[in-house]
Amino acid sequence: IERLRGRLSKSRSAFGQSLLGLLGAGDLDEDSWQDVEDTLLVADLGAATTAEIVEKLRSELSVRAVRTSAEARTVLREVLIEALATDGDRAVRALPHGSGDDKKPAVVLVAGVNGTGKTTTTGKLARVLVAQGREVLLGAADTFRAAAADQLQTWADRVGAEVVRGKEGADPAAVAFDAVKRGTEARVDTVLVDTAGRLHTKTGLMDELGKVKRVVEKQAKVDEVLLVLDATTGQNGLMQARVFAEVVDVTGIVLTKLDGTAKGGIVFQVQRELGVPVKLVGLGEGADDLAPFEAGAFVDALLG
Ligand code: GDP
Repeated sequence: IERLRGRLSKSRSAFGQSLLGLLGAGDLDEDSWQDVEDTLLVADLGAATTAEIVEKLRSELSVRAVRTSAEARTVLREVLIEALATDGDRAVRALPHGSGDDKKPAVVLVAGVNGTGKTTTTGKLARVLVAQGREVLLGAADTFRAAAADQLQTWADRVGAEVVRGKEGADPAAVAFDAVKRGTEARVDTVLVDTAGRLHTKTGLMDELGKVKRVVEKQAKVDEVLLVLDATTGQNGLMQARVFAEVVDVTGIVLTKLDGTAKGGIVFQVQRELGVPVKLVGLGEGADDLAPFEAGAFVDALLG
């Protein structure tokens, strides 16, 4: 929690602390309510979520006859956590892994537009899984960005994971297929595939991701498609996510670079509007800067 607090400091001062200051002891005039609304909008919560939160706050503060700032804080905390809640199906679940005699690896595709932190996230995730005692194999299927495979190799060397890579410009689907094949032979627990993320031809990228998934599915089930979104890109990121979701079944979102933004409220929008749970958050460039997303801890860090 301390670490989360530290990494979310920009959002905490611009969003969490501002809200606490505005709510005061709960007796707000209309101007102050307008400021609450503006604060939420500026933090990237989006119009719909902002309206819902403001309405809920107004009614709860009055129904509970809130008179102290401690009570106001409790109400704010509850309302924000509720706004982040997802139903059971969408709740965060542990990443799957293979087991048993006919052990097959869990296959996780990591998708996203270049620059969002896709390769870094794949590396960090490998580290998390290895720390949990799983054997991981990495597929370097981002064959269009020359440095991506080397970058992944560096992460893999650090944690002692094998990498399957193709030649520069190789077909990403072929590399992904080979990675899953090798992972199955080697009986690893998880195969993580870093996919290509060119955006200049949107349909090209999407076709490609769809193809990667189809080709992998010729030999194995794809257990997760994680979509990496850069939290600092706001509405743009949301739009990217909608496009991706049309092409493949995205099973989880990884929201990166939350450490670099005061607009951490984007988590609320992503969680509510995409119909896909935020499973992990990126909190920095370091090896340990990937954390599972948990609404209570997140809100506490924002208000902390
Ligand atoms: P890709 O093109 O999507 O594979 O992007 P990279 O993984 O190469 O990451 C792009 C840049 O974002 C790199 O400089 C990363 O160190 C940085 N990055 C990735 N995740 C985070 C994060 O959570 N926080 C911060 N501050 N930087 C990040």
